[in-house]
Amino acid sequence: MTRRSLTPAPRVFLLVAALLSILLSPLATADLQYHWEDHFSSTERHKLKTWLNETHNALEQLVGELPFVTHLYMKRTSAGEPVPWAHTERSNIQGVHFHVDPSYSLQEFRDDWTAPHELSHLVLPYVGRDNSWFAEGFASYMQYQVMHQMGVLSTAAMKKRYARNLDKAEGRYSHVSMPFAEAAPKLRAERNYPTMYWGGAAFFLQADDSLMAKGEAGLVAALKQYTQCCRMRSHTLADVVATLDKLCQQTELSELLTKFRTDSGFPKHQGMDMGPSAPEAQSKATQQHDQNLTKNRG
Ligand SMILES: [Zn+2]
Repeated sequence: MTRRSLTPAPRVFLLVAALLSILLSPLATADLQYHWEDHFSSTERHKLKTWLNETHNALEQLVGELPFVTHLYMKRTSAGEPVPWAHTERSNIQGVHFHVDPSYSLQEFRDDWTAPHELSHLVLPYVGRDNSWFAEGFASYMQYQVMHQMGVLSTAAMKKRYARNLDKAEGRYSHVSMPFAEAAPKLRAERNYPTMYWGGAAFFLQADDSLMAKGEAGLVAALKQYTQCCRMRSHTLADVVATLDKLCQQTELSELLTKFRTDSGFPKHQGMDMGPSAPEAQSKATQQHDQNLTKNRG
């Protein structure tokens, strides 16, 4: 039998298979809209789309499908790094403006934290300039969760990066008698951005850590529910915190918010488990079993 004599059934099957392979390929993401604002060759476009589609897919694997089209504005630049500059668009459009140097390899783009950070911003609504420590803290916390999901960072590497950034930020925090939420606008005015970002990230790492210590699923699991039920509803910091607490059936985040507004000094981060957020609740029995195993191993 030659290829020409295929019966209609296999032909239909091949057609469906071909369509599926196009739909499931990393370049076919209906909820991403690209805007090429400068000239990019087709090879460059392919590389940049592969990078951003992979990043967006990893984010959605963690937090569920985002309930809007994400617009990606691509500008060309020449710099000492793949993505020297990027910022989000938080109008009635949800998107990110990327300034990229396409001479870098796909792997160098994957290893850069900018896209995981910027796309993560879109998971929460814009909560206002006064609360930028919260928004930047959230994106900084999420960026390594996403890079871990992409397979770019191992668990050990993500823990190390969180710890290094938090230690550095604490070393640069000079408002020791002030609560972090109060000091954040000053850090911003001093252009001490990494300290503001990572002090904010401690909020989300603490929430994740204390949820998991109770045997609950981590913060990212709550975000997965949040994107489906509530992302387009609540728009203030208080709403976001109250909604996430409700979804976790805990009061972790509102208690932490009070602490960040009243306890002086850089947020606590020593002794936390800063790895991947647990996707599911860990039963007490499993936890006990794990603890016994750890004890037995010495
Ligand atoms: Zn940011």
